[in-house]
Amino acid sequence: MTRYIFITGGVISGLGKGIVTASIGRILKSKGFSVSAIKIDPYLNYDAGTLRPTEHGEVWVTEDGGEIDEDLGHYERFMDITLTKDHNITSGKIYYTVISKERRGEYLGQTVQPIPHVTNEIKAWIRRVAERSKVDFMLIEIGGVVGDYENVLFLEAARQMKIEEPNNVLFIHVAYLPVPKTLGEMKTKPVQHSVQRLREIGIQPDFIIARSEYELDEPRRRKIALYCNVSEDSIFSDPDLENIYELPLIFEKQGLGDKILERLGLKPMATDLSEWREFVESIKNYRDTVKIAIVGKYFSIGKYILPDAYVSVIEAIRHASAYYRVKPMIDYINAELLESDESLLEKLREYNAIIVPGGFGAKGVEGKINAINIARENKIPFLGLCYGFQLAVVEYARNVCGLKGAHTTEVDPDTPYPVIDLLPEQRRILMEKKIGASMRLGGHKVILRRGTLAYRLYGREVVIERFRHRYEINPDYVDRLEEHGLIFSGESEDGIKQVGELSTDIHPFFIGSQFHPEFTSRPLNPNPLFKGLIEAAIKDKETRFKS
Ligand code: GLN
Repeated sequence: MTRYIFITGGVISGLGKGIVTASIGRILKSKGFSVSAIKIDPYLNYDAGTLRPTEHGEVWVTEDGGEIDEDLGHYERFMDITLTKDHNITSGKIYYTVISKERRGEYLGQTVQPIPHVTNEIKAWIRRVAERSKVDFMLIEIGGVVGDYENVLFLEAARQMKIEEPNNVLFIHVAYLPVPKTLGEMKTKPVQHSVQRLREIGIQPDFIIARSEYELDEPRRRKIALYCNVSEDSIFSDPDLENIYELPLIFEKQGLGDKILERLGLKPMATDLSEWREFVESIKNYRDTVKIAIVGKYFSIGKYILPDAYVSVIEAIRHASAYYRVKPMIDYINAELLESDESLLEKLREYNAIIVPGGFGAKGVEGKINAINIARENKIPFLGLCYGFQLAVVEYARNVCGLKGAHTTEVDPDTPYPVIDLLPEQRRILMEKKIGASMRLGGHKVILRRGTLAYRLYGREVVIERFRHRYEINPDYVDRLEEHGLIFSGESEDGIKQVGELSTDIHPFFIGSQFHPEFTSRPLNPNPLFKGLIEAAIKDKETRFKS
């Protein structure tokens, strides 16, 4: 039997509800239970594939090819599970299903209404995924905050589930407690109001997570308990942390896991977080630092710089760095500036590793190519991810193979040397304007060539990694590139090149992949390409900066 834990948010978005959900999952898993999670996104897009990364953050790609909110990435990483596209519910998916049913005559004679038709569809979706996952606990994070128009039907569906299965449903409300500088005091009023809104809907939270810059103190705990209709020991403190992976340990110290079990009528269970604790310790007790540059374009929104679009890349760096007990000092470099700012380009030499992550379109492309050139010529460890790999091939074609004007047809359809070109079936899809969920997506096999860097890093011949792209290495140029020393060390079953590298005789670490290795990196099991990069960055610091 599956128990359902709904996680709602209050006061502001961006509270880290995803990390809270993921941490609770980790704790329950460490108690020996099977866990899974669903993210509800109230927007009308069918999935996250068409959203702007600067606004919504990274698009997470699931093994089965879903393009999903970045929170699913946190779930997979913290709980070490593999989720499917069905573990994400959007308003778009629900309405699409309801309207399709109506057109098929499945509600013949009825007036189709938000309640019960939409709410029934939401509940059915949740239960269907739970049934398929066969887990002890299904965590369901409802996006947005209480009081939004958008998520009200999802909250209503959750309320109904509690009535239908009173002993199987639990509500956790994560709300923000501001500490305004002018007051110098933590304020509980916003939490009081958001819980009031929740209770108006008919949901009484079982637990409240007090999210704030600081730890919750006793007077405020008493106040929240009184006004929010919960006992004092049902409130958990969730202060800002330097390291998000510490959160399961912080919650466990407060006994959250057993409290959840108790509330659902289960016996307390011992928690084994020892491996997790070791991982957290190795992040804290680092023996050295390495400087890493991520050269991208999705950083700024208005006046603010947010690395959210690259969250999985950053986490993959953290996993690999923890493995080697080094602290990664990551700088986010705006690729567009590298197109004209010579001194910034020069500064790139100070890094122990350069990453050019995935991306789309023409903006900042020449800057990325310049960065790749610096990495290649100065023997700085380099990792190219998807677009970063494609652009590394462009750089090599132009500057080593002498193919002046070589490019990807994504940016220059009239290039004399289209070294990167559309996948054949993608040409058809684009002509028909079927944009949503139409890239080459999800987990695919890659066969690695023995004796190469890629093979050494993975230690095996066949790997499954996740993809999200429309363009690929043009087979017509493979021979030419290889004759000039670029080694294609991995390919898909149809022979298309998926990994490229330079021999370690001429460059300590220069590799790129058409797939996104960041999606399979886990805290306790870092992805081999990132491990290789960090290992090379440590060596770089020891050698290139010795004198
Ligand atoms: N824009 C490139 C493509 O579509 C790369 C995509 C990516 O980096 N995810 O192939």
